[in-house]
Amino acid sequence: SKVPPIILNNGVEMPQLGFGVWQVPDDEAERAVGTALEAGYRSIDTAAIYGNEKGTGKALAASGLPREDIFVTTKLWNSDQGYDSTLRAFDASLEKLGLDYVDLYLIHWPLPSRDTYLDTYRAFEKLYADGRAKAIGVSNFLPEHLRRLIAETSVIPAVNQIELHPHLQQREAREFHAEQGIATEAWSPLGQGKGLLEVPAIVAIARKHGRTPAQVVLRWHIQLGNVVIPKSVTPSRIKENIAVFDFHLDDEDLAAISALNEDRRLGPDPAAFDLA
Ligand code: NAD
Repeated sequence: SKVPPIILNNGVEMPQLGFGVWQVPDDEAERAVGTALEAGYRSIDTAAIYGNEKGTGKALAASGLPREDIFVTTKLWNSDQGYDSTLRAFDASLEKLGLDYVDLYLIHWPLPSRDTYLDTYRAFEKLYADGRAKAIGVSNFLPEHLRRLIAETSVIPAVNQIELHPHLQQREAREFHAEQGIATEAWSPLGQGKGLLEVPAIVAIARKHGRTPAQVVLRWHIQLGNVVIPKSVTPSRIKENIAVFDFHLDDEDLAAISALNEDRRLGPDPAAFDLA
């Protein structure tokens, strides 16, 4: 299945569905990412803190795919925020990935109490100007952090990657991003595969379409316009999760999923999260 792109605010194309590798150990990442690339994924979402940039890079190299056909995202970890430390951390990530540019570089968390994201982002602007990051953005930024960032810096973030799934639909953030031309990327799009995939409304929609609950949830994201990066290390699920471009949810399905919002986070609250 070919994944359609969305066009970021600087004209760069990003596949609307990619492969997330959080919690995949470095020595398993090469196999998992290799399986994903074989299944047709062309976008990989990693981060310095995941500890698997090396394994990810090995899979990219082993695939033999042209560099321009792959979209690679990595993220700056909290302990490296600040102008000079960001530039150093970026070099270290590129080295581990074995690449000479990334497609998207994200500030992993805003850490508002430390107040370093503006300096950090100014280093991102340099990496962008130098062509070493084809697009720059943020993750876990609340609208108040984005407003300040946009007011104080020159490049509007291309992407904000936030926790988003049917139990946490993030309507306000999505609306704000749309107004600003920022793409919304959903992390834990399957709600980490826990209770969400057993919710009766989702199971019923899956039966109706002859699909799996995971495919229904991913298709819901796609129809909303979100970028999604589901994670799995199981080959059959890796294939299942990309096979969502040959069916359509109708208005009734979409309304039933909309009704599942509980504003319930699985991860930390970005306003308070301050882990080094
Ligand atoms: P996810 O919602 O993608 O769920 C993954 C889990 O769901 C798997 O471990 C598996 O248990 C289950 N699963 C996957 N496919 C399935 C299927 N077809 N059927 C049944 N169960 C299935 O959760 P995630 O890994 O937390 O999020 C995806 C990616 O988002 C991560 O790998 C990472 O790249 C990114 N992420 C980013 C942040 C951030 O702070 N920016 C935080 C968390 C995750």
